[in-house]
Amino acid sequence: MRAARIALVETFIVSLPRDTPYLGPLDADEQVNARGYLVRQGNRTIYPSTDMSVLIKVTAEDGTVGWGETYGIVAPDAVTAMIDDVLGPVIVGRDPRDATAINEDLYDLMRVRGASGGFWGDAIAGIDIALWDLAGKLAGLPVAKLLGGQRSSRLPAYISGLPGKTLDDKVKLARDFAARGFTAFKYAAAVSLDGIVEEMRVLREALGPHAKLMVDLHWKFDAGEAIQLIDQLAPFNPYFVEAPCAAEDIEGQARVAAAVRVPVALGEEWHSVHEALPRFERRAMSIVQPEMGHTGISQFMQIGRMAHAFHMRVIPHASIGIGIFQAASLHASASLPNVQKHEYQHSVFDRNLQFVHTTMRCENGAFTVPDAPGLGIEPNASLWSYLRKKAEVQ
Ligand code: MG
Repeated sequence: MRAARIALVETFIVSLPRDTPYLGPLDADEQVNARGYLVRQGNRTIYPSTDMSVLIKVTAEDGTVGWGETYGIVAPDAVTAMIDDVLGPVIVGRDPRDATAINEDLYDLMRVRGASGGFWGDAIAGIDIALWDLAGKLAGLPVAKLLGGQRSSRLPAYISGLPGKTLDDKVKLARDFAARGFTAFKYAAAVSLDGIVEEMRVLREALGPHAKLMVDLHWKFDAGEAIQLIDQLAPFNPYFVEAPCAAEDIEGQARVAAAVRVPVALGEEWHSVHEALPRFERRAMSIVQPEMGHTGISQFMQIGRMAHAFHMRVIPHASIGIGIFQAASLHASASLPNVQKHEYQHSVFDRNLQFVHTTMRCENGAFTVPDAPGLGIEPNASLWSYLRKKAEVQ
């Protein structure tokens, strides 16, 4: 195995245009502002009108390159500033094969000042992914093999989001995916204009008794409202309901999970095992949804293993990226014993394959885990025409 110290850390912001905003066409009271952002009234959350992402390139002394990626959804310059000014200079000279140790050390840098998640957590996650990619390339092994063992080369995918102006459009989209081998579908309550229960009823009728149906409740409800709603959804046999209560309402989440017959899924906003732990202790969910862009591989593995110890399933979240953190999520998922499915962001995943070299695919209802050393994904030349910013630290 080759040894090579970290010599250079570079950050990049890319911005890819898209035809329809994320979650579907804009409502009458939703507009794109001068900075290119829009607020979805259904979940009071801000989104960019383009697909923005932050890439991290870590080069070792021998020239081997590791690629990481993290959230660039809003204010991506905040994340690159943290890496360029603080995290990059700290890791120069270290051995990339110490990725988890480095992850713990970077977390310590700001913990007494209250920076343990948020944009800071995203910055640490992006570096962690790049270091695992680099460690895999130096070892000549796919990252999944370095994480305790690879259990699978394919992971079942579920369709995330059914963007469409009308419920008929959504049903048609779901049927198109079903014809292509997909059997699991999640819709977004934020844009359920005909009603959340009605959308579940119509999808169940259209897709039949064996389809797996899920709804993302987008943190919209207090515990009492959520319990009432989920009881109404229960006759349509949802596979899970996601994020019923406010992200910080741990007691509400626990109350809902204890009261309903439908599995509850949580976790896409967590950055570390420290955010996950109180939810585990209160059994606030039965399905855990770590998001690789927030956790990095090191924290994703800790959360996934803790879920296993609590007899909970892992069905990872997938956000908007060019595919690097998606590949990292597949490697980590393939090495865990309790991953049942993986979210598939169909509106960006296939389009973005044109910007990367990889064997990663999502076809016939499943992801293929890339098999080259490292993460098995690299940006290709065509991505750089969408570059918004580049910086480097050595
Ligand atoms: Mg969600």
